[in-house]
Amino acid sequence: MSVQYDLHSHSTASDGSLSPSALVRLAKLRDIDVLALTDHDNIDGIREAQLEAEQVGLQLIAGAEISVSWGNTTIHIVGLNLDIDNPVLLRGLQRLCEFRQWRSEEIARRLAKKRIEGALDGARAFAKGNIIGRVHFARFLIEQGYAKDMRQVFRRYLVQGKPGYVPGDWATLEEALDWIHAAGGQAAIAHPARYRLSATRLRQLLGEFQELRGSALEVVSGSHSRDEIQRMAQLCSRSGLLASAGSDYHGPENPYMDMGKLPAMPVNCVPVWESQPWIHAQKAQAVALPASARLAL
Ligand code: AMP
Ligand code: MN
Ligand code: MN
Ligand code: MN
Repeated sequence: MSVQYDLHSHSTASDGSLSPSALVRLAKLRDIDVLALTDHDNIDGIREAQLEAEQVGLQLIAGAEISVSWGNTTIHIVGLNLDIDNPVLLRGLQRLCEFRQWRSEEIARRLAKKRIEGALDGARAFAKGNIIGRVHFARFLIEQGYAKDMRQVFRRYLVQGKPGYVPGDWATLEEALDWIHAAGGQAAIAHPARYRLSATRLRQLLGEFQELRGSALEVVSGSHSRDEIQRMAQLCSRSGLLASAGSDYHGPENPYMDMGKLPAMPVNCVPVWESQPWIHAQKAQAVALPASARLAL
């Protein structure tokens, strides 16, 4: 079996539902050899994930998924192979964390106007780390019976034009890439097909990203259809960017974005792992997990 990569995943340090160590154990069970933990706007889960990765025998790549405001669109930039002690990166992430605090209060105020009380405390109860996001509000609203599942709750309350939506005031594209590069990392545009950009706008994004020395495009994503993968592969090879692959796994409640089930990288792309020395291109040693580790999932 070839080396398995998953370069985009979430833990309880942001809006995933597994702890960093449980996530690593699951990745191991799913035969992943190289896993990047890329929580939204923070690196708080990396140390725990790294310790667990050493225990079970897989390579853990320190990452983060940075929220960026690009025009009116929120774009996600994945930083890979980050020095998690770098002060420039930490200061940048801190600013986004503070914006998230303010935004969470504003979301709650807007929901209260629609007679949905207690949303801030409700969402906070679901946030296990320092980051609060729309998914935590979504879980609260589902619990209170305002919607039946994630898809519905976002559509009714949390997307543009709905009562609980607050426009982003995230990093600029330039800031995000500066922080990633200051921390010695490489930048990849996450799930490019999700932004619903026109072909022209998408080309423009890629152009700006490349001028800022961005490295890769996430061609294979848990949130891309087969058609979207082919389209992004073509764009990737034409632009000369490297291609990345990640599940965007958030936990077992999201069955449509599972771990260890990513489609193969299209052959016309150069995968990021073929040219990067920080990715050890070898099959991880098989290490038997103790039964307790399996139960803990
Ligand atoms: P935030 O960064 O707090 O604005 O939240 C963004 C996160 O919300 C994404 O990373 C997804 O985890 C989740 N999300 C966004 N849109 C949807 C949707 N339509 N359905 C389900 N989850 C979504
Ligand atoms: Mn998320
Ligand atoms: Mn994302
Ligand atoms: Mn993600």
